[in-house]
Order: sequence, then structure tokens, then C-alpha cells
Amino acid sequence: MKLVTFLRDNYQSIGVLGSGTATLIDIQQLKGQFPSSMIDFVSLGDAGLDRLKKAVTDAPNEAVLNLADVELLAPIPVPRKNIMCVGRNYHEHAKEFHDSGFDATAGKTAVPDDPIIFTKAPTSVIGPNASIPSHLDPTNSADYEGELGVVIGNGGRGILKQDAFQHVYGYTVINDVTARNLQHKHKQWFIGKSLDGFCPMGPTLLTAGEVDDVGRLNLITAVNGEIRQDASVSDLIFDIPTLIETISAGITLEPGDIIATGTPVGVGIGFEPPIFLKPGDVVRVTIEPIGSLENTVV
Ligand code: MG
Repeated sequence: MKLVTFLRDNYQSIGVLGSGTATLIDIQQLKGQFPSSMIDFVSLGDAGLDRLKKAVTDAPNEAVLNLADVELLAPIPVPRKNIMCVGRNYHEHAKEFHDSGFDATAGKTAVPDDPIIFTKAPTSVIGPNASIPSHLDPTNSADYEGELGVVIGNGGRGILKQDAFQHVYGYTVINDVTARNLQHKHKQWFIGKSLDGFCPMGPTLLTAGEVDDVGRLNLITAVNGEIRQDASVSDLIFDIPTLIETISAGITLEPGDIIATGTPVGVGIGFEPPIFLKPGDVVRVTIEPIGSLENTVV
């Protein structure tokens, strides 16, 4: 299922996208008392999804809304903790970042021996079509990073690789917008990655059952229509089971937690000289069948 969080006037709920693209079903208008928050719904696990699948087949007319009449928010508009992210997780990007001079943490080799995990503040999250406030970066060095986001379903600690996909609820698209000069200046990446509005997410949360092989998903980032990133998720240096095993080894993962898996080659600092985002630029990150995440820089 393709789940969205939407706003209509001051009413917020979860929607299921119809098979066409023009309508959605408001799950709070279905029989069976569904929650309005995505984290609460994800916490219901497979039981919630099974119940929802049955309920949508019997959706009353008032549950069906036109997409044009709602505002899509990030699928999880307010994560309960920081978004966990992975640095240098595609080979060619690891090289471009290493060679760019912007990586203050760089060792001698571009490809790390172990996953590099950092986080973005929950307040950095914005939805599809929301504006990226590049003016909050005093160093004028905002850059895009198109990424596949993994949403955790069943939580846990000490999750082994072979069990990892049992803990994946679904997938979304993330733009890990980064203020490059802040990332470099402060050594630790948190400030440069966490500015308000620097984590566009969405448009949908595609449940894991709809994805046969996540490695076959393809990620494309375009800026003003020009393709900058085009890569297969199978090119990840550390795959999703490795990331889940690594993070959960001593940290409890909870339903609705989000892992941004890293970005492929083609970011702005890979150009010589670097090309940073500027007001008016439109960044579109597409991973089908999750959808396209489009945001305008202001
Ligand atoms: Mg990133």
C-alpha cells in the first residue's frame, strides 16, 4: 500500500493512495477506528495493515478525497527521534565526497570500513512541495542528496542481518539536504544536516510487501529537470540488513524510526567548482514506485 499523511483545512489524517493518482482514501473515515498518526499506525504492524486492506475494499464515499484538495505532508511529519543517516554509502559518491575537500572527517581512503552513522533533527523534516529554506544556511552552500529512506516497523535491539527485513515496514524518499560549509566547519555533521526544512520526505510510505527486491529500485535526482543522480539501490556499500544490524546492536529501534541509506554520486560538490542550490531551484528525487519528491529552494 502507498500511505500518505495529509492535511485538509486543519484536519490531519493518513490516506491510502488509490490505484489512479487522483484520489486517496482517508483511513479515519473507514470502519474500525484507525489512528490519525502514521507512527501510531505503523506501530500496529502487519495486523493494522491487514485490517486496513479489508476496510478499504468497503470504503464509503465520504472517505474518498481528491488529491488536489489535500496537502501532502511528510509520511512521518514529526519523527519521534532524529532521522538516522548513512554517510559515504555508495562507492562513486564516497570518492566524489573524499575528493571534494568538504569532508573534514575523511581518512586516507574514500570507502569506509564500517558504516558512518549521523543524524538529522526531527525539526528538519518537511513534506513534498514544501520549500527548502536555503536562506537558513549562512554559508550559502546548500546541496541535495537523494536517498532511499527505510521506515522501521517492529522495533528491537540486537537485530541480526538475516532478520532485518522483518523489521522494515516500508520505504520513502528523502532529500538529505546539507549545508556543505557547515558540515565541513563543525567537523561533526549534525548542524550542517539539521537546518529546519533540510529533510524533505515523501511523497508516500510504500509498504515493504509491495517491494520484491529493494536492490532493484532506482534513484534519480534532477535539479531544474537536469538529471544529476541516477543509481541503483543495489550499489549501496552497506546494505539495509547491515545498517539495521549495525545501528540496532546497542540502540533500540522503534516503530516509525527512519534510516536514510545514503546518496549516490552526482551531488553539487562533485562538480568543479561546486554547484550549490540557489533560490528558485527545483529538486526532484524519484524512486518508483514510491514516487517523486519535489521541493523548491527559497
Ligand atoms: Mg546523505
